[in-house]
Amino acid sequence: MSHSTGGGRGGRRPCGGSFTKCPSYQEGAGKAAVQAQIRQQLQFIKDKVDFLIAELYFCVEEIEWAIEEALKTGMVVAATMAIGETGDMAGVPAGECAVRMAKAGAQVVGVNCMFDPDTTVRTIQAMKTALDAAGLSPYLMTQPNGFHCPGVGKEGYLSCPEFPYAMEPRLVTRFDVHRYARAAYDIGVRYIGGCCGFEPHHVRAIAEEMAEERGKMPPASDKHQPWGKSLKRHYMDFIRERAGREYWENLVPSCGRLQPPTHGYNPSPDNDLQ
Ligand SMILES: [Zn+2]
Repeated sequence: MSHSTGGGRGGRRPCGGSFTKCPSYQEGAGKAAVQAQIRQQLQFIKDKVDFLIAELYFCVEEIEWAIEEALKTGMVVAATMAIGETGDMAGVPAGECAVRMAKAGAQVVGVNCMFDPDTTVRTIQAMKTALDAAGLSPYLMTQPNGFHCPGVGKEGYLSCPEFPYAMEPRLVTRFDVHRYARAAYDIGVRYIGGCCGFEPHHVRAIAEEMAEERGKMPPASDKHQPWGKSLKRHYMDFIRERAGREYWENLVPSCGRLQPPTHGYNPSPDNDLQ
């Protein structure tokens, strides 16, 4: 990512550049070797972006070393770990991870990748509770995956049998994303995004859910009407009845292989849907 991506309507937007965990940490090479690899990554991005994002870290010790090195650039550092509510690979609870990232100097702390929006909301809540208790108030950031994966272990969605080539039935809907964005905002998260599995319409759903707080709809809303309102013009009566928030907010979607729990239908070709 670089400044060149920030154009378009509304002018240039701040652009973050990410760096990530190093093979040297897993090999047990120690802090100096890990920080040398961080420096190599930073060399590549630091002059092209407005702030730095440490992401996909599994161990808080490693991200502490990364934060320390990244702060030497003088840039703002956002630090996000790929963990769920049970904490990092070494067993450090999520709340303690957040406190340690903030104490290491990260101006933004949070969670990215590996887990679904529901898990990520619970994880950032645990982080916020611990930060409050420690008297720390960094900005909060969440970038969950766009795949439902409840009940997975520390490897997150990697442990889903469908990973990586049959994940589509687990994809979140835009309405799941509305719910996630609101829950994250209510906890105090102000950098609300998505990671693997998030598509453009998911990101648009975040911006639309936050339209009142932001004082505007996103430019991409020109292309549709939120909450399926354009269905009002559908030529079939029973589809027209799906126009609006009430229908989509209360639908519990099926995976396409079961009857939807809330909206039963008979898929037989003899059955008239109307
Ligand atoms: Zn990801």
